[in-house]
Amino acid sequence: MLIVMDHAATEAQVAAVAAAVKAMGLVAQPIPGSERTAIGVLGNEGYVDDSSIRDLPGVREVIHVSKPYKLVSRDFHPEASVVEAGGVRFGNGQPPVIIAGPCSVESETQMLAAAHLVKAAGAHMLRGGAFKPRTGPHSFQGLGYEGLKYLRQAGDAAGLPVITEVMRIEQLETVCRYADVLQIGARNMQNFDLLKEVGKLGFPVLLKRGMSATIEEFLSAAEYILAEGNERVILCERGIRTFERATRNTLDLSVVPLVRGMSHLPIIVDPSHATGKRSLVAPMAKAALVVGAHGIMVEVHPDPEKALCDGAQSLDGAGFSKLMAELNVLRGIL
Ligand code: PEP
Ligand code: MN
Repeated sequence: MLIVMDHAATEAQVAAVAAAVKAMGLVAQPIPGSERTAIGVLGNEGYVDDSSIRDLPGVREVIHVSKPYKLVSRDFHPEASVVEAGGVRFGNGQPPVIIAGPCSVESETQMLAAAHLVKAAGAHMLRGGAFKPRTGPHSFQGLGYEGLKYLRQAGDAAGLPVITEVMRIEQLETVCRYADVLQIGARNMQNFDLLKEVGKLGFPVLLKRGMSATIEEFLSAAEYILAEGNERVILCERGIRTFERATRNTLDLSVVPLVRGMSHLPIIVDPSHATGKRSLVAPMAKAALVVGAHGIMVEVHPDPEKALCDGAQSLDGAGFSKLMAELNVLRGIL
């Protein structure tokens, strides 16, 4: 349930409504807006009888929301959020954020080369996985903690904030020391314990859509993070599993305008994992911006043929520079 207060409602009236909600054994979460305050009501299992609330002074409207996700919804938070992460801003009215870098951190030199290359082409943030959620146990699993150091060093050398994936709760403390943004990968989108811990941190999080997750499940996963108090969440569409095998996944671009209407959180697109094919990365990156993505995340490797992970979908320096030039033209048009 959402209680919308009058724009002239006083702080005392807002507090009285919050107290009435608490008296019903529910949680009141005030959501201040530029025009008026709303109060989100959480903790109810089903329909809430609003008779003790709707006639209180200052209450304009009571809206019953039955979605499993509330804090991420536009019902609870009508204005679009701008999420600051590593000094970069994701959201409406902001230039699209370009995150680029290799799938995995492989060595100090590989990471430095990648960082300078993506920075020179105009990227805003550096990516690189130290903990890799590989489908098979015999594939390269990442350099772990050593990789975090190389990622940080490379980001600092090129002047770029860094994002990296965290797979387990025990890794969180260390990853937060090295990274500017935490990535929760597709395979961990429903690792609810991890989502809850990340929600307690107040650290920016990029949450990737699970490969078989519906939009409702995707937004409900984000809800876990917001419910613990962390609103610094950026969503990422990375392709979903369909019957089609010509591409690694099927990029669900319609999710971008859909989610922009349903949620206030920013959403970016990862065309690399969505397609699995280098030749499709640039067209899909451009398409993502056309449909309203707040940024893109692209895999770039100094020498994709030698990449230990996802070389076939990685752009090289020249390919990424070309894409950046095209995106700049597109931005002018958009
Ligand atoms: C990644 O971005 O490194 C990654 C593993 O992607 P996903 O979780 O989307 O498969
Ligand atoms: Mn990858």
